Amino acid sequence: VKAEGRNGFRFFDVSMQRQAQSRWQLEEGLHKAIERQQLEIWLQPQVTNMGIISGAEVLLRWRHPERGMVSPVEFISVAEESGQISVIEEWVLEESLRLLCQWQSSGLPDTFRHLSINISPAHFMQADFIQRILPILQRYNVDDINIEFEITENLLINNFKHAIDTMLLLKEQGISFSIDDFGTGYSSLRYLNQLPINVLKIDRSFVNDIENVDDETPIVDVILLMAKKLGLEVIAEGVETSIQKQLLDHRGCRLYQGYFYSKPLHHRTFYSLLQEGG
Ligand code: C2E
Ligand code: CA
Ligand code: CA
Ligand code: CA
Repeated sequence: VKAEGRNGFRFFDVSMQRQAQSRWQLEEGLHKAIERQQLEIWLQPQVTNMGIISGAEVLLRWRHPERGMVSPVEFISVAEESGQISVIEEWVLEESLRLLCQWQSSGLPDTFRHLSINISPAHFMQADFIQRILPILQRYNVDDINIEFEITENLLINNFKHAIDTMLLLKEQGISFSIDDFGTGYSSLRYLNQLPINVLKIDRSFVNDIENVDDETPIVDVILLMAKKLGLEVIAEGVETSIQKQLLDHRGCRLYQGYFYSKPLHHRTFYSLLQEGG
């Protein structure tokens, strides 16, 4: 038993060691990523049912010198655990606002009204979050563009009161809020009513389910109905086919994001697309 345990342990140890090493390398690399200009702002169009690009979601990319493009799924969690997330998301916010100002001075279609930025719960719940975010917001004078922070339901579990207070303060500064991946996390009808949110983002998994004919009451129906009652906007994420879009349209959805319209694009490519008029 002892020998077995030791072998088992040794095997586990090696793979764990590799994992830890890779993670540690990412963490080290992240420290330098900003100054080495390896982080990039990519944008995914948000499109109305009429096919007009009315906004975009900012999706961060890391162009790693050895690993190529590292997925945010991989490095955001590393950044959260290592405490680098605030610095990174402050960079994302600042870069996004800088781009918006640049676009506004070179010309922006007036149908483009909106930019969504993901905010990690680990960042949002930091005591000095507001204090550090406000000067950035105030440094850039972006007219007529709504800046929205995407947060997840799980943010609200631990300190609901603090979360609400922070949201209310940011709302005064013109920031609006959406609930990302709606329906996949801790959900409570009660909190939806109390929060200063404007938009529910229907998670991709529910959009996927919509073509499943066996499902008599697709979750999207419930979400759309709920949103209507609460006076919230809805955007469907991960729309990949025209059938999904049609089924959602039919159910009253009016805003879409997904590969059917466009994958996330480098910000320069996105701006060209905007100028061509979508
Ligand atoms: P998310 O916020 O749910 O973003 C949507 C993800 O779905 C993006 O993946 C996007 O590329 C992908 N997507 C969009 N349309 C489709 C589609 O039609 N089909 C499929 N299969 N996928 C689609 P991405 O860019 O890899 O980002 C993954 C996650 O990383 C994001 O999920 C978000 O949670 C996180 N992330 C990215 N940038 C940031 C950031 O600046 N801060 C934080 N906290 N998280 C970020
Ligand atoms: Ca998001
Ligand atoms: Ca999402
Ligand atoms: Ca997510």
